[in-house]
Amino acid sequence: MSKHTHSFQAEVAQLLHLVTHSLYSNKEIFLRELVSNASDACDKLRFEALNDAGLYEDQPNLEVRVSFDKAARTLTITDNGIGMSTQEAIDHLGTIAKSGTKDFMSRLSGDQKATASEQGQLIGQFGVGFYSGFIVADKITVESRRAGLAAGEGVRWTSAGAGDFEVEQIERKQRGTSVILHLRDDAEEYLNAWQLKQIIGKYSDHISLPILMEKEEWKEGEKEGEPGAMVKTGDWETVNKASALWTRPKKDITAEQYQEFYKSISHDFEPPLTWSHNRVEGNTEYTQLLYIPAKAPFDLWNRDKKAGVKLYVKRVFIMDDAEALMPQYLRFVKGVIDSSDLPLNVSRELLQESRDVRLIRDGSVKRVLSMLEDLAKHDRHEAAAEGADGVTDVVSEEDKAKEGKYSQFYAEFGAVLKEGLGEDFANRERLAKLLRFASTTSDTPSVGFADYKARMKEGQEAIYYITADTLAAAKNSPQLEVFKKKGIEVLLMTDRVDEWALNYLHDFDGTPLQSVAKGAVDLGKLQDEAEKKAAEEAAEQFKPVLAKLKEALKDKAEDVRVTTRLVDSPACLVVQDGGMSTQLARLLKQAGQ
Ligand code: ADP
Ligand code: MG
Repeated sequence: MSKHTHSFQAEVAQLLHLVTHSLYSNKEIFLRELVSNASDACDKLRFEALNDAGLYEDQPNLEVRVSFDKAARTLTITDNGIGMSTQEAIDHLGTIAKSGTKDFMSRLSGDQKATASEQGQLIGQFGVGFYSGFIVADKITVESRRAGLAAGEGVRWTSAGAGDFEVEQIERKQRGTSVILHLRDDAEEYLNAWQLKQIIGKYSDHISLPILMEKEEWKEGEKEGEPGAMVKTGDWETVNKASALWTRPKKDITAEQYQEFYKSISHDFEPPLTWSHNRVEGNTEYTQLLYIPAKAPFDLWNRDKKAGVKLYVKRVFIMDDAEALMPQYLRFVKGVIDSSDLPLNVSRELLQESRDVRLIRDGSVKRVLSMLEDLAKHDRHEAAAEGADGVTDVVSEEDKAKEGKYSQFYAEFGAVLKEGLGEDFANRERLAKLLRFASTTSDTPSVGFADYKARMKEGQEAIYYITADTLAAAKNSPQLEVFKKKGIEVLLMTDRVDEWALNYLHDFDGTPLQSVAKGAVDLGKLQDEAEKKAAEEAAEQFKPVLAKLKEALKDKAEDVRVTTRLVDSPACLVVQDGGMSTQLARLLKQAGQ
């Protein structure tokens, strides 16, 4: 078969351009990406071989080899994993299959052009994967043979990372893939064993496969005065720990290792806010390592976004986006769950029905909620630590490090968390405690229902809130007038999801939630007798006027009444108790309902 030239999918060409221009300051991540692909390929082989042991051919030990050739200026990453057929090489290395790719590209090169560093951040989140090789290489050759295919059905894929790539059929005895990077002039530093080992140690220590490099030894110059050099010995040594991070005891793992592991599974450049690593024993046994990211991914609102938790069974990778393991409203959580009890050949369908999976999911949700509760508890430590006697408690370094993290989390993911009120009835109360809102006393979303309750006025019987599109609209609503006058705090809810979520929450800790825009607001004991009497008298006096207004508005309004809720404004619209709020009605109208 002769060579064929193919064009990259338009998005790939765009991405390649951006990769080489904006990831420059973070060059070394290419090795993490390529080693992680090699490791994925071995995971896939192991998984397929569960049903067809013949795929191992005569090489049952899965491994990754990293080698370099100083003279040729190439760096090669070889694995004996699943490999690629010609068609797979064309499809997988020429297009991006990820959902939201188009979206992502328009965010990068759309109207508001991102700065180079913002682009770098975004690309990092998106995960440039294989294409990161072009940060350091001006040409990449991939040679591969898929497990199970004949030696004559190998493929060579070559590209200089511009608009197109070439593909030809080759003879390849060894199963799996070699990625050969032809390094740019400014990437010579990677032709150095010590340097490569450093990077592998930093990014790939947690990979469960052995990563091998050829040993070198010092050789003196042949003749007097000639310089010595490191020469290859032909022996290979394992340069990573080669045990999956989550299988190691907690005490042997440093914070930095946890963070690097997070970065490698999430493609995030930033360290996570917090994590939790546990071995759970009981009805079902599993290990969980769960992370809360610091920043929302660009596709947080994408409905078919993949879940962030990887499923392993007895250390064998099973699937990437196991949505059965985490509810939608915790879709930002990243991590690994390794079960000792599930069958290795577990399918997505089986996952949905498995009792073990249900237990794992419940346990994982609880774990995430406790992580959040812990952050929330330490969010405002300074204020809390100052005791009534004016003596400041000693705050541990660990607790200090948590200060401000919950606010940071909430700004990124608070709106998603609220979805849980409608999705996870069993944990509704715990979730309600984690919610924060702006209020008439705070412009930032920092007021929890519990804070609100603690500040309630003597005689106040409800938690009052208002929903609106913006904070300004909420704050200036005429419906707040009487509350302002009486100094009653009102929660200001301005997230699109608030209205919907609050349908599922009728009270907090026994105190009912009451929209100030619904029905006849009953201020109960907060209203004094004189006011009540005045209102009744006014109602009597205005009876004829009300009758006329009612008649005039009969198609538009259900009722017209005299109110005590206004102070300065002459009139306002309210919704019947139990009726759809004006905000929700508008939302549904927007959605075309
Ligand atoms: P991702 O790993 O997120 O899928 P990448 O850009 O890293 O994205 O890789 C794209 C695809 O190319 C992979 O999904 C896989 O199908 C294929 N691929 C890359 N490297 C290898 C490899 N070493 N062996 C087999 N397939 C590979
Ligand atoms: Mg990858």
